Amino acid sequence: MTVLGIETSCDETAAAIVRGPANAEILSNVVRSQIDEHTEFGGVVPEIAARAHIEVLDRIVDEAMKDAGCGWDDIDAVAATAGPGLIGGVIVGLMTAKAIAMAAGKPLVAVNHLEGHALTARLTDDLEFPFLLLLVSGGHSQFLLVKGVGDYERLGTTIDDAIGEAFDKTAKLLGLPYPGGPAVERMAAQGDVSRFKLPRPLLDRPGLDMSFAGLKTALRTQAKKLEPIDDQTVADLCAGFQRAVADVLASRTKSALALFEDRFPGRPPVVVVAGGVAANKEIRSALTSTASEANARFVAPPLQLCTDNAAMIAWAGIEKMRLGPVDDMATSPRPRWPLDQTASGVLGSGK
Ligand code: ATP
Ligand code: MG
Ligand code: FE
Repeated sequence: MTVLGIETSCDETAAAIVRGPANAEILSNVVRSQIDEHTEFGGVVPEIAARAHIEVLDRIVDEAMKDAGCGWDDIDAVAATAGPGLIGGVIVGLMTAKAIAMAAGKPLVAVNHLEGHALTARLTDDLEFPFLLLLVSGGHSQFLLVKGVGDYERLGTTIDDAIGEAFDKTAKLLGLPYPGGPAVERMAAQGDVSRFKLPRPLLDRPGLDMSFAGLKTALRTQAKKLEPIDDQTVADLCAGFQRAVADVLASRTKSALALFEDRFPGRPPVVVVAGGVAANKEIRSALTSTASEANARFVAPPLQLCTDNAAMIAWAGIEKMRLGPVDDMATSPRPRWPLDQTASGVLGSGK
């Protein structure tokens, strides 16, 4: 089956055509980032995001169809992110998907954005359920047990900032550009990781929850003491921050793998990473060593599929269609939609 996917939940306008599930193939994958629109504000402005999605989505869908060499007759279904995310953007994507589905007479699949991230590795890698997913993006930081399509269990989450958000806020307070992750990573490469002692919040407590707000505050306090700060100090602070985040993730991943083995004795443990923060080389290498020490397989999909894209939404649509019922035209956008409530596939009231 061939599915058109649409993603508009945050600051990427994206459309893609994916064929599968057997011999899965991405026929096209168009992503337009809104970074330029949001840079001067140091973060995503929801109203600007929604307007930018409206302006370009039709063109992005056309481009995806053209790149794939597809006409409407070649498409079997339209899948769109129905949440969670910024309400304005989700409305634009879902309504566009409904209009296309109605006009072309195709079924509609409403996809949870996090489910898209969770299932991506099955598009790119030969991967059976269950597996462990570490989702680290600008809006989310969580450990999920992916037991099947629609069967997710959240094992732990950040109790305050998402990791990408912590990178973005840290960059902002150090005068680095948005998005903060790549900027902090670049500076960290020239920094002395041992100069500043920064905390590893929550690691003294059991469980898989994480916290990053305290780390950012500790960094701010150190930076304030040294004002005005020079470039080397910025680099040293970035190095210390990045190492602290990598340590927290490595430690929590170790516990998550232990939990996986308790829950599924004898099953080969697999940990999959997704989300924009997965681009960070230090974090990737910390996770790679943690997995290898635990004799676990580590899967990191290609970067353009780790960050927000529509191929993951089209693929989740394919995986969901395989299970049966699709969504009807009354499906509403759900700005808040925890993944562990996806199981029924029915869109009730969002929480
Ligand atoms: P959502 O949370 O809804 O999935 P998002 O758009 O916030 O959406 P992504 O597009 O997956 O998330 O990722 C963007 C985030 O990843 C930003 O916070 C950015 O700073 C962070 N990021 C990108 N590259 C790096 C990097 N090299 N190191 C650390 N963080 C990074
Ligand atoms: Mg984004
Ligand atoms: Fe995302």
